[in-house]
Amino acid sequence: MIIDPERCTACGLCVKDCPIECVQLLDGKAIIGPDCVECRTCLRVCPVQAVQEMT
Ligand code: SF4
Ligand code: SF4
Repeated sequence: MIIDPERCTACGLCVKDCPIECVQLLDGKAIIGPDCVECRTCLRVCPVQAVQEMT
């Protein structure tokens, strides 16, 4: 998963909803850590479509 910093508004929803707490806010942008299990929860909850799957 990748987060587009241009779109991210730092709303914190993905941070709150990630089941393994691997998203954090850094300098006003969400950052996904290396432990991500690709469950897609963050992609689903992001209100501005800032989270995208890596292709
Ligand atoms: S895909 Fe799932 S595990 Fe990975 S950052 Fe998003 S919510 Fe967390
Ligand atoms: S849910 Fe979307 S806009 Fe909100 S912090 Fe996460 S990536 Fe950024």
